[in-house]
Amino acid sequence: MSLLIRNAEIVNVGTRAHGDIYVENETITRIGKDLQAPPDAEIIDAKGQPAFPGFIDPHVHIYLPFMATFAKDTHETGSIAALIGGTTTYIEMVCPNRNDDALAGYQLWKSKAEGNSACDYAFHMSVTKFVAETESQLRQIVADGTASFKIFLAYKNFFGVDDGEMYQTLELAKRLGVITTAHCENAELVARLQQKLLSEGKIGPEWHEPSRPESVEAEGTGRFATFLENTGATGYVVHLSCEPALNAALAAKKRGVKISVESVLPHFLVDKTYAERPGVEGMKHVMSPPLRAKHNQDVLWQALAAGSVDTVGTDHCPFDLEQKLLGRDSFVSIPNGIPGIEDRVNLLYTHGVKRGRIDLDRFVDSASTRAAKLFGLFPRKGTIAVGSDADLVIYDTNYRAKVSAKTQHVNNDYSGFEGMDIEGRPSVVTVRGKVQVRDGKFVGERGRGKMLKREPCHF
Ligand SMILES: [Zn+2]
Repeated sequence: MSLLIRNAEIVNVGTRAHGDIYVENETITRIGKDLQAPPDAEIIDAKGQPAFPGFIDPHVHIYLPFMATFAKDTHETGSIAALIGGTTTYIEMVCPNRNDDALAGYQLWKSKAEGNSACDYAFHMSVTKFVAETESQLRQIVADGTASFKIFLAYKNFFGVDDGEMYQTLELAKRLGVITTAHCENAELVARLQQKLLSEGKIGPEWHEPSRPESVEAEGTGRFATFLENTGATGYVVHLSCEPALNAALAAKKRGVKISVESVLPHFLVDKTYAERPGVEGMKHVMSPPLRAKHNQDVLWQALAAGSVDTVGTDHCPFDLEQKLLGRDSFVSIPNGIPGIEDRVNLLYTHGVKRGRIDLDRFVDSASTRAAKLFGLFPRKGTIAVGSDADLVIYDTNYRAKVSAKTQHVNNDYSGFEGMDIEGRPSVVTVRGKVQVRDGKFVGERGRGKMLKREPCHF
């Protein structure tokens, strides 16, 4: 099986070249001008449009039992939505809670994906407690190819770890050469503030943000950084949402702490007034850390342009309106999450590149290449190069539409980005050389996705 993509603007971080890409089996084997292909090769004319390396979403939830319910997507629906939006690899959070056995949880999460995903995938392993068997279990999981951990400083008594457990996790991560991702909010403060607000009769979704203010996230970020500093481990802050937390991360970077920063799509595009709308309209926009005051959006865009926000993920986590209404009597019971897997690339391109907030290099870097490098997938993923997997996105820069729940492929009945402009979308998406999407339609092979085994790379 071979595939020739002709006449593309081949975009990698730092380089741009007009030419052709030739793929044999699953791999890019030639890049150049006027390439020839055997008569049986599939030929696609890119018509001078950009060819990007397949995009990587470093932070999604597909299978997730959480807040008395389950996130709505399966790997079948989630991976097809991802591919239609140009994401060819996602990294899912394995999230057993404190009462679950970690290794059994890991096997369960793996079994949900296996044979069901149309795109490639990998996992971050959540460490939600640190007990006698934890080290040997984590060693097995890393040896199985899952070379990154996740810890929650928030969600006390469910996913959350205390400082002692954080120390033990980071100390082990350092020895294993594994990067640790972290949800940084102070669990104790969140719990206290929630109780205080509820006792004052403040129960609507508009109180979600005040229950987890910016300072609470900044404290978590700073504390995580301090623990990295004192263990020598490498860390990655997930879904950083606001200026004080960014300052905490950047101060740590400046003093040599090995810390990277991810922000997620909602925090660039929607502000806390969305969650202040009454009833279910507000509940649609409840996630943690919460949507913030609008001025933080400019801060995040500027940090993204400068590269001090390293990656853009989604924290994709769909709950439908009926599930959101579990929180009708109390904001603490609203399932947290906003879906975004399908819209990330198009919205980042439109509201980042097209609006002049970031250049094309940062777009490709933050949505693909840098995640590949941080999480041990580069150069197999995250670049268009000879020898790399043929995960390619030919992008139609002339496409115009608005985001709508009516046309989305995510298994949910609303979109957090309803009505927003999209100026561009993938016209062709390949996964390891096979065309999976054409012009917004899945045309490929279900179950094609493979688990990507990753080696530790943070010694
Ligand atoms: Zn998450």
